Amino acid sequence: MMKLISNSVFLEHDTGQHPENKRRLEVIDQVDMIPINLDGSEYLPLVHEQKLIDLVQDAARNAPCWLDGDTMVSSGTYQAAIDAVSCTLIAADLGDFALVRPPGHHSYRDHVSGFCLFNNLAIAVESLRREGKRIFILDFDGHLGDGTLYFFYDTDQVMFWSLHQFPAFPGMGRNSEIGGHRGKGFSVNVPLPPGSSDDIFLHAFKSYFPLIEQFSPDVIAVSAGFDAHRYDPLLQLNLTVDAYYEIGNMLRNQCDRIFAVLEGGYNLEMLPKCVHNFVAGINGIPKPYEEGISTSMRSTWEQYDIDLHLGISYLSPYWKF
Ligand SMILES: [Zn+2]
Repeated sequence: MMKLISNSVFLEHDTGQHPENKRRLEVIDQVDMIPINLDGSEYLPLVHEQKLIDLVQDAARNAPCWLDGDTMVSSGTYQAAIDAVSCTLIAADLGDFALVRPPGHHSYRDHVSGFCLFNNLAIAVESLRREGKRIFILDFDGHLGDGTLYFFYDTDQVMFWSLHQFPAFPGMGRNSEIGGHRGKGFSVNVPLPPGSSDDIFLHAFKSYFPLIEQFSPDVIAVSAGFDAHRYDPLLQLNLTVDAYYEIGNMLRNQCDRIFAVLEGGYNLEMLPKCVHNFVAGINGIPKPYEEGISTSMRSTWEQYDIDLHLGISYLSPYWKF
């Protein structure tokens, strides 16, 4: 059974009124508060350059300050960011869902971006990759997980699949970006037009889903962001809590080992419902919350269809659809 795990240290990343604030974790119930008995700082160099690690540490000493227009640092940020890595490593080990902040999927080897400092998921996945594991990353946050995408772009040992609004921040993630070198065919970008609802999202999900079985991973790692929900303030996707249950339910039984880490999701009323629905789907228990499947406009479907056929044409030399 996948459990929600967290620690109060993540509230010490104090961003005030920023959309990515500590209330996001405080509103989620039924969470196991676990001790962080592992030093995440030892794992940072798996993904990040020392100058980035030093930058975040120095920023926390001089807090509050901003590392870019979106990304804020408080005095408790460095420890929270280290422990977010630790908690993600623990979740990867136990098959749990790490409720952490700051989030990670926009963070690169050498720079922070989009509320993200250290790339929690990429660090856990890189650690598993070096053990010889094959890892399938699913990033269903409404934004592209660009930091993660480009970190694993050239490897065939990790498959990265992102569904995201396009156009939107960070601006990349076209379906022509399928990986490079040995990793060609192992990056799967599924851009979704603004206005895409459950029907389109789940159609896209089912269309690319056979790649998981063909890749045959040892571990599935989920960048679980919930800002594609229709009431989320940052994007124009229209998912309901039902879609997150479906995603969890479809992933169940795909692999013996699945873990997840929190990325975005900024509507404080809907975020807990999305999280609990996803986990209920993974665990194969009844859906705790229901809104009713949302439907997209015809013009949105038309744009989506063009993108879908193009995306499949780029990847069909490598995989069966
Ligand atoms: Zn996001």
